[in-house]
Amino acid sequence: KINADTPIDVVIIGGGQAALATAYFLRRTGLSLVMLDAEDCPGGAWRHGWDSLRLFSPATWSSISGWMMPPVQDGYPTRDHVVDYLTRYEERYQFAVQRPVRVTSVERLAGALRVHTEHRHWDAKAVVSATGTWSHPHIPHYPGSELFGGQQLHSAHYGEAQPFAGKRVLVVGGGNSGAQILAEVSKVAAATWVTPTEPLFLPDDVDGRVLFERATERWKAQQEGRVIDQPVGGLGDVVMVPPVVEARERGVLHAVRPFQRFTRDGVVWPDGTQSAVDVVIWCTGFKPALGHLASLGLINDEGRIEVDGTRAIQEPRLWLVGYGEWTGSASATLIGVTRTARSTAAEIEQSLSTAQV
Ligand code: FAD
Repeated sequence: KINADTPIDVVIIGGGQAALATAYFLRRTGLSLVMLDAEDCPGGAWRHGWDSLRLFSPATWSSISGWMMPPVQDGYPTRDHVVDYLTRYEERYQFAVQRPVRVTSVERLAGALRVHTEHRHWDAKAVVSATGTWSHPHIPHYPGSELFGGQQLHSAHYGEAQPFAGKRVLVVGGGNSGAQILAEVSKVAAATWVTPTEPLFLPDDVDGRVLFERATERWKAQQEGRVIDQPVGGLGDVVMVPPVVEARERGVLHAVRPFQRFTRDGVVWPDGTQSAVDVVIWCTGFKPALGHLASLGLINDEGRIEVDGTRAIQEPRLWLVGYGEWTGSASATLIGVTRTARSTAAEIEQSLSTAQV
């Protein structure tokens, strides 16, 4: 039986907003902590957003605990503004982040969890996984996709519209990514927006701030066992950020239902007609990046881990933060991750202090 060397109290896997928010609350506990992040620099997945990506919430509603995101002059914060904020946040609190370090697996030992990386391991009494979803893009299967000779890329790897100028492009997916990328690509290419159902647009004055307030009301009602009816609209619905409003005014914000299958050089629609297609941009979302936890045998067929709040039910030394609704309402947003980052740090402190008794 391998015994743990003197384990560190907490290892946080990941260095994005969820990891930083959790570290912020842990640092007050005095527990020893290290963060292991696969990126070369701070900012998490925000470093990989496309050039024109903007938050759908204003700066004051996009802050993690302790330090407000500096305001921006014109509307919503850009990708670079978010990366700069997270970089300065990390410096401000002097978090111990090792990067680039990729965690490859986590192993159960008698008195600790052993966190393996490419070059060494860390033994920890508690592990927080905050690896987000960006590194796990989801592309739904359509028949014949392996035949298609054109280009395919996921929104996680989309940078700007220029490379697609003059091409015939399908933008597949009806969320914020789909709407924002369709708005941009339709300016330079023959773009068709494909969505499984009619996209839901939020009213022009509803942005991330309002969505967070609604998520908070829902969460409060849940805590008090009350049922509330709220206007339709959740985090997945399209926020009318300026580029999407401009696309609506240009008359391009119309979506068609999906094609049936691919051919070598295009797609076949349900009515049998065919279209030639050069590029498909999949704006079809993400799944939780949990591959590094596969070794613990906890991942269910939905690609998630059963949690009570954020604590893994079958491995009480493991917590999961920032993955979206299943790890806490609005937890995959900057403003929303604070609540579960705070409760996770409190649970870890409590669990390690009772373990010492
Ligand atoms: P990430 O930012 O993905 O950070 C995870 C970190 O873990 C990364 O640094 C990654 O390299 C690292 N990692 C992954 N696997 C490993 C491993 N095995 N070992 C070590 N490190 C690892 N939220 C908002 O609040 N407002 C918005 O307007 C908004 N817009 C969005 C637009 C898009 C297109 C997308 C995709 C998301 C948006 N979000 C928005 C949601 C959310 O804020 C981001 O997804 C954010 O990046 C989530 O932060 P995170 O810390 O959970 O994960």
